[in-house]
Amino acid sequence: MEDVGKELNRIIKSRGVDGRYRQMMEEVLADKDVRDFIEDHKEKLSQADIEKSFAKLYEFVQEKKKYLAGDPSMIAPGYEPQLSLNFHFIDVTYVPTDELLRLKREEEIRNRVNSLDMPKDIRKASLRNFESDSGRKEALVAAFEFVDNYEENPKSFNRGLYLVGSFGVGKTYLLGAVAHELAVKGFETTLLHFPTFAGEMKQAISNDKVGPKLDEVKRSPILMIDDIGADSMSAWIRDEVLGVILQHRMQEQLPTFFSSNFNMDQLEKHLSVTQRGDEEPLKAQRIMERIRYLSKEIFVAGENRRNG
Ligand code: ADP
Ligand code: MG
Repeated sequence: MEDVGKELNRIIKSRGVDGRYRQMMEEVLADKDVRDFIEDHKEKLSQADIEKSFAKLYEFVQEKKKYLAGDPSMIAPGYEPQLSLNFHFIDVTYVPTDELLRLKREEEIRNRVNSLDMPKDIRKASLRNFESDSGRKEALVAAFEFVDNYEENPKSFNRGLYLVGSFGVGKTYLLGAVAHELAVKGFETTLLHFPTFAGEMKQAISNDKVGPKLDEVKRSPILMIDDIGADSMSAWIRDEVLGVILQHRMQEQLPTFFSSNFNMDQLEKHLSVTQRGDEEPLKAQRIMERIRYLSKEIFVAGENRRNG
């Protein structure tokens, strides 16, 4: 430290420069991290090297101050400035903080869940702090089982869940929790509110966007169709949208989940009458064959958890 101190003083003195510059240098060279860094690398740093690096040392001291104060005007928010030696030149590197890494990881996880028209609170759903009771237990166990099996063997066919239960028992929440858990493990899920999606598909006819929208959904590695049967369906939505999605997923053995207020038998009846009132039981049967193949029916019971 003795040597470095002398060295630094010499640098300051050797500069017959104006007071402001001198003041800046003094501040920089008084910084403990700067002094320690120079001390640690004194074998490799000459006085000229230190002088040459002065702008970087100054940047370091300023950015460190901002970093410690949490000043948002810092060059790289979330990154901690550190001195590094780049041959004979001192440089500042910005190292991501643990907090930033945590936020980035969380963002990556969130990005793996593609939620289409889903309520916001579903994004916070998690299996790990899922409030369970007897009415939800079977569904929760099946959910964990699915996640375990899928993680172990994502390429083989894993049957999804068909969650049945009345309004507010937590079906959508459970889908969101499964999607989140899968995202933590690195898997991508598309979660869509089916009645809204059906409406958007109808709109898409007019601007020729049906194909790409349908493709994206049908190819999703894991698909969750929320609230199926909540609205009456047109024959086109049932056969050309839902039917096409399910056919593809069966062929490609892609996991598919559902939630509904109807059990499977009730949904079959619901699907056999179109929006226009036509009775088409065979069409409904074909859809149900695919749903039955893709998923396992599980009842969810409990009080309505929705407030108001
Ligand atoms: P459903 O889809 O069956 O109609 P929701 O999943 O929308 O019901 O749940 C209703 C409300 O209860 C939502 O606000 C949801 O966030 C909350 N909720 C449901 N299940 C749980 C749970 N296990 N833990 C905490 N909150 C829950
Ligand atoms: Mg719901």
